[in-house]
This record gives sequence, C-alpha cells and structure tokens, in this order.
Amino acid sequence: MTTILFENPIFLEHKVPEGHPERPDRLKALNLALEHERFSPLSRQQAPQGNEDLVLLAHPEEHLRTIMSFIPEEGINSFEADTHASPASLQAALTGIGGAVAAVDAVFAGKADNAFVASRPPGHHAERNKAMGFCFFNNIAIAARHAQQRHGAERVAIVDWDVHHGNGTQDIFWDDPSVLFCSTHQMPLYPGSGAKTETGAGNIVNAPLSPDTGSDHFREAFKSRILTALDDFRPDFILISAGFDAHYRDPLAQINLVAEDFDWATGRLLDVAGKTANNRIVSLLEGGYDLQGLAESAGTHIYRLMRG
Ligand SMILES: [Zn+2]
Repeated sequence: MTTILFENPIFLEHKVPEGHPERPDRLKALNLALEHERFSPLSRQQAPQGNEDLVLLAHPEEHLRTIMSFIPEEGINSFEADTHASPASLQAALTGIGGAVAAVDAVFAGKADNAFVASRPPGHHAERNKAMGFCFFNNIAIAARHAQQRHGAERVAIVDWDVHHGNGTQDIFWDDPSVLFCSTHQMPLYPGSGAKTETGAGNIVNAPLSPDTGSDHFREAFKSRILTALDDFRPDFILISAGFDAHYRDPLAQINLVAEDFDWATGRLLDVAGKTANNRIVSLLEGGYDLQGLAESAGTHIYRLMRG
C-alpha cells in the first residue's frame, strides 16, 4: 500500500486558551511517534491551503462569513465556550480542508491507496451553519462532497470512531442517501446526539456505547452495526473521522479502547475498501486529547494503513 501523510506547520499556529485540550502539542506528540523507522516508507506531503469556495461544499456562505468575522488580529476570540480562534486559525482551518481535498485527489488519481491528514482544528462537530466543539468547518463533509463532484464518487461512506458523536457530519448528510454516515461514540456524552433512532434517510447508522465500554464490546458494535451497514452500502470511497479519544487514557471520555483496537478497526475498513472501493481510504484526524494515547493510537492507525 502507498500511504500519504499530509501535514503543515500552520496547524500548530491555531492557538487556544491555556489548558484547552485541543492544543498544538497534540500534533507535536504525533510527529514524535512518526519519527520511528517503521514510518520511513510514508510519503509525507505539505497540505496546501484550500480556497474559501471549498467551504461552500458543506456550509452556506453566511457560515464562512461568520467564522471570518471571529478571527482576531491578535489574542484569542471565542465562538462559544469550547471553540476559539487566533489570528492564524482561518489559515489553519482552510489548510485542513486543503489537505483533505488533496488527499481525496491523490487516492482518486492512484498516487496512493490511502492517506491520512494530520490537521487541526478538527471538523466533525461543525454543522451546516454552526461552529462548535473545537470545530469551524466540517472537513470530512467537504472531502465527501469533493469526491462526489470532482471524482464522480457515487457511494461515499464516512466512518466516525471519535468518542464524541459527529453531529455536524450527521446534520450535513441527514437527508442525503448518497453518503452513509456511521458512528461509534460514547453516550451519554457531548454533544448529546447519536441515538440509534437517528437514521436520517436510512443513511445514518449510530452505534452508541455506554461509558466503560472496552475492546470486546466496541468490536462487537463495530461489526454488528457499522460493518454490516458498509457491506449493504458497498461504498466506492471510504472516509474516516479518526478521533482517538476513545482510548482509555483520554481525559474527555470513559471508553476504554487500546491502540490495537484502532489497528483492528482500520483493518476491517481496509477489507471493505479492498472489496468495493479500489482500496480508496482517506482518514482525517479529529479528537484525541491524551498525548500518549493519541500518539500511540494514531501511529498504529497510520501504520496499519501503510500495510493494507
Ligand atoms: Zn472527540
């Protein structure tokens, strides 16, 4: 397998208040883990800055204008209790989108089988018209729309294993059966959505997990809810909202996964992609707030993508 890692130092310039969990150190910890020699075959590329038009693939122009108006000239501005912007935040967010779109282009051009985008801020909580939960723009929704519009993807599956429900992604694709959205997440937990009864146009599959869920129950839910839905849907492209905050060390949730669980889940999605999607997978970093848990888990995930 050829795997491309998209990265850019601008992602470290999105500043947050002291003590905020979604901090630049997250990417520094991942970068340190990626120095291991097992990652030497990885193709590492600079994520390009996306243009503002890409935002409009998943958001109204009003949302873009609102975000732009909140970017401070200095210091930090707050959209809401959890979500903050510094002077470079718009550039960082647009580069996250640019990296996601470049990753989609690379796998559809056959330059790689799969790709991982190590960006921040994350995106899956951003609804059509609302920034929330550390997220400004919904990177994964934009990547899905780009795959459809630029590359003719007909059945895009988004698998979200971040410990928080991807309410933003669900909101954007709620009535769109061309995109399957599957999520495992702790419930109850922020943002509060993600019940099994939330099914959209039959294209939303939620697998809520109780606090203290461990590896066995996670894998069982992933198999019975997510993999069966993917088998039925037969995606021609798979996107992963790869949050690693379901790791047992994570301070924001109470699910008890270990790094090997992300290896396992990645392997199952590689199997599906091999059968129906010509191996095409693009994975975007979402959450993960314990530096060691994040670095180990994301490293394990990327290494699995490299091995196929
Ligand atoms: Zn999360």
